[in-house]
Amino acid sequence: MSSDLTLRSLLSNSPLPANEARILMAHVLEQHYALPRSALLSRDDMALQANALSHWKELESKRLDGEPIAYLLGKKGFHNIELRVAPGVLIPRPETELLVDIGLLEISRLNECKKSIEVLDLGTGSGAIALALAHEASNISVTATDQSSDALVIARSNAKLLRLESQTRFCQGSWYEAISKDDVFDIILSNPPYIANQDPHLMQGDLRFEPPSALTDHSTGLICLEAIVLGAKAHLNNAGLLAVEHGFDQSGAVVEIMRSTQFRDIQIHQDLAGHNRVVSGRK
Ligand code: GLN
Repeated sequence: MSSDLTLRSLLSNSPLPANEARILMAHVLEQHYALPRSALLSRDDMALQANALSHWKELESKRLDGEPIAYLLGKKGFHNIELRVAPGVLIPRPETELLVDIGLLEISRLNECKKSIEVLDLGTGSGAIALALAHEASNISVTATDQSSDALVIARSNAKLLRLESQTRFCQGSWYEAISKDDVFDIILSNPPYIANQDPHLMQGDLRFEPPSALTDHSTGLICLEAIVLGAKAHLNNAGLLAVEHGFDQSGAVVEIMRSTQFRDIQIHQDLAGHNRVVSGRK
């Protein structure tokens, strides 16, 4: 086989950024040869066989067209778990781990006085928030909703893969319409679509390939956040916690919505990039 098919030459001749080329090549090595990532170096003189080579070429060209790495790999790490992802769901973002950490803090507080804890994740997508929490806290039951049945197929399969089915329940519908009007929770969390219509970010990077309904409300960006806050009290236990993710410039508006809905103990939380990213409040 000619030497230009070695890992070394395929990687050094790739027009992709080097880190992206290595991630995609490691995936090819794992899928076709069951080799670990370290083979990128230790086996760099290895030549790819025809089927592995065509897989590599396909991944390389899709990535050059802008397809998100997570969709090409079919998976994404989030908090302490790995999730299957496909174009029907938003790719979990590192900033959303903040919501998980806020949920976990509240769970550890409630553990002092409660045996079982009920959590609601509205608009679960791949199941990221619900499953990351269930993975950390075995005494919680999580209800996860989405209006997209495609998303729920992926979320359910993630619950199965992570062996968290007994702790999780999935319901289809728009926000609280997915659950019964009598259902109450200790904690409600949500990362809803909060990007405003016409926001140029929707035309950039990974977002071009993600489901628009997971990104934007096709309006001001506040429509879903408002619906979630307004409906929360009817589904929270006394002193229950609501925490919602929002855009970097929306914390003032979300605080105002929580204030006018008489939430108390309203707090703004920053993500690791230092942006206001989550507002929480108590019933
Ligand atoms: N955090 C995502 C982004 O800015 C948006 C996801 C959402 O609207 N919830 O790319």
